[in-house]
Amino acid sequence: MKSLPLDAHAHLDAMLPARAIARAGFVLAMTLSSDEARIALARADERAVWGVGCHPRRARAVRAFDRDEFTELARRSPLIGEIGLDLTSRVPMPAQRATFRAALAVACALGRVVSIHPHRTSSAVLDELRRRMPPAAILHWWSGNDEETRRAVALGCYFSVHRAVARLRIWQDVPPERLLVESDIRYADPPASSPTSVARTEVLLAARTAARPEEIRAGAWRALRAIIAASRSHALWPRPFLDQVRSEVSVR
Ligand SMILES: [Zn+2]
Repeated sequence: MKSLPLDAHAHLDAMLPARAIARAGFVLAMTLSSDEARIALARADERAVWGVGCHPRRARAVRAFDRDEFTELARRSPLIGEIGLDLTSRVPMPAQRATFRAALAVACALGRVVSIHPHRTSSAVLDELRRRMPPAAILHWWSGNDEETRRAVALGCYFSVHRAVARLRIWQDVPPERLLVESDIRYADPPASSPTSVARTEVLLAARTAARPEEIRAGAWRALRAIIAASRSHALWPRPFLDQVRSEVSVR
C-alpha cells in the first residue's frame, strides 16, 4: 500500500457526496455543533472519520449543548471534536468552560479521542486536561510557549500542527511520536486541498525538526496507531482506516 498523508484536523461539508469527500484522503473531520455531527454521522465514508463537536466560537451550539444528546452522538464516533476554549470568542468563558468540561467528561467516560481548539487559552486548556485527561488529546493549531508545551507533553498530549505554526521552535522539544499534521481546511475549500496542504506542512515541520518529510508522515501514522490503542474506540474506526494505519507503520 502506498504511503498517504494523514490530516488530523479539517472541516468538510457533510452534505458532499462520498466521492467528493474521498478526495480529502485520510482525514479526521471536525464538526462544530451537534446538528452538524448528526448529519455527518449518518454518512459511511471509508477514509473520513467524523468527530462530534461543539465549537467555543459557535454561540448557538454552546447554548444548545445538551450532555445527553452529545453522549448519544459520541457513542457512534471514535472522535470528539472540535471542542475547546477561545479567548477571542464572544461566548462567555464560564459557558465555554462548562461545555468543554462536559465534553471532556464524555470523552473520558466513553474512551474517545479528542481534538481540541486552544486559541489563546493554552494554559486554561491544560488546566482542564489536568482535571480530566481523555485517553488521547490532540491539541490543534497549538502555539503555546516553551513552558506550556512542556506541560502539554508531560500530560501526554498529541499535537496536530498547522502550516501557520509549523515553523515554531517549540516542535524541536516535542517527541516526534506526538506530532501529527493538519490542514484545518474550511467548508468552502475543495476536499482535495487537504492532502496537498498536509504534504506542504510535512516539509515545513521536517525542516524545523531536522527530520525528513517522510519521517514526519510515518510519525503521524504511528501517533495515530498509539491514539487508537489508547482509546476504547477501535471498533468504530472504518476498516480502510485501520488497514492504512497497519500498512503505514509496518513498512517503515
Ligand atoms: Zn478547526
